[in-house]
Amino acid sequence: MEKKETLDSSLKDIVSVCKRRGFVYPGSEIYGGLSNTFDYGPYGAELLHNLKRLWWKHFVHLREDVVGLDSSILLNPKVWEASGHVSNFNDPLIDCKNCKTRIRADKFLEDQKGEGAATGLTLEKMNEVIKAGNFACPNCGNRGTFTEARDFNLMFKTSHGASAEDSQDIYLRPETAQGIFINFKNVISTTRNKIPFGIAQIGKSFRNEIMARQFVFRTREFEQMEMEFFCEPGTQKEWFTHWVNYCLTFLTDHVGLKKENLKIREHEKEELSFYSEATSDIEYKYGFGWGELWGIASRTDYDLSQHEKFSGEDLKYQDQAANKKYVPYVVEPALGLNRLFLAVVSDAYAEEKLPDGETRTVLRFAPQVAPVKIGIFPLMKKDGLPELAKSIYTNLSSLGNLEYDEGGAIGKRYRRQDEIGTPYCITVDYDSLKDNSVTVRERDSMSQERISIDSLKSYFADKIL
Ligand code: ATP
Repeated sequence: MEKKETLDSSLKDIVSVCKRRGFVYPGSEIYGGLSNTFDYGPYGAELLHNLKRLWWKHFVHLREDVVGLDSSILLNPKVWEASGHVSNFNDPLIDCKNCKTRIRADKFLEDQKGEGAATGLTLEKMNEVIKAGNFACPNCGNRGTFTEARDFNLMFKTSHGASAEDSQDIYLRPETAQGIFINFKNVISTTRNKIPFGIAQIGKSFRNEIMARQFVFRTREFEQMEMEFFCEPGTQKEWFTHWVNYCLTFLTDHVGLKKENLKIREHEKEELSFYSEATSDIEYKYGFGWGELWGIASRTDYDLSQHEKFSGEDLKYQDQAANKKYVPYVVEPALGLNRLFLAVVSDAYAEEKLPDGETRTVLRFAPQVAPVKIGIFPLMKKDGLPELAKSIYTNLSSLGNLEYDEGGAIGKRYRRQDEIGTPYCITVDYDSLKDNSVTVRERDSMSQERISIDSLKSYFADKIL
């Protein structure tokens, strides 16, 4: 039986603010939960949507050379035979014979002997190292009681079809990429795209991870934002470099992550996936250490060639201008939305001592990703202040998600918005009724200024759109 995951204590503050403020709840909570599943609450859902919108903007709308797609989660099982997932999408698994805990052998070796300790090791070699190390089980502490390492396929199986006779075993997709490859021909024949160009999509993927852990970093159900960029063989190196830089700039300049919390890690030769010619991961410095956020892989012509072989369809590209026909090469930037979410919350999280001796927790989200853009408060719940505040709310609502709050002391309302990461708050007070202006308070500096109600829209449009 799988053991209940314990949350890494390094993520304690992040998990706590996410639960307390309605970003992330444990999945199926009223039924005692389901391990490693999470539901995103109102602010979490807003943050996820903002990240998806931002990614789509920069990877589809602002790129003349990329189009979008939305393919099925359920695909013909031959897709996964062709892609190599049925035979190769495995992680090495060991069990503790004493407490029956299931452990991912390569990650376990890295925990014991340091980063890279399992790189390139065969199952046999891993078994030798584990035996020689006489390591303790991380759950029960018993030494040397592990089974031999064996391959464990990460794909979730399910049954497709209503009756027992005509049902078929199929898989939930473990990546969105294959849905793109099998539609390559459709996109070419129904649009005017010419190589080089990319197809991007956002969607859920499923992997039966042996050790799902570290909050939303590694879950069995997650969302990916992937793009397959098709190019002429021989040009893939340039495109690979282009996309690694483009992805990094997206994270720093548009999502607003701190440069010092990001690094690029090139895969060693022995570490490369069977289909990859080169891979670089953009890693983020999470509370528990560096972890993969974005994988950028040069996938060669492997996938399209395999689908040609298994489907019998001609998936070559006809370059009319150069009079050439070839199977395109592919560069793939593959980003996990939930890992991006965790990076964004971790990066934004701060605890500050204020001049009055109090401590405030603040999420310093970039305005573009913040779940609430502006909090709007009437100073008192009477004398026409709520009506004026609500009319401001209506007038500004096209700028994004706003929040109206009339309950409690103003200071408490500011603190609440600080913890949600709202970049601006507006307070409507008695002077507002006379001078038609309001107080605007900025989250990070906590500075306040009076702004006329008539100019609020243009004042904020510059800052949050
Ligand atoms: P890892 O080595 O951490 O298992 P991976 O190399 O198998 O990741 P990819 O197959 O490259 O991951 O998937 C692309 C992206 O999808 C990853 O960079 C990550 O952001 C995300 N991702 C992969 N597996 C998970 C998971 N179990 N939970 C959440 N996100 C995931």
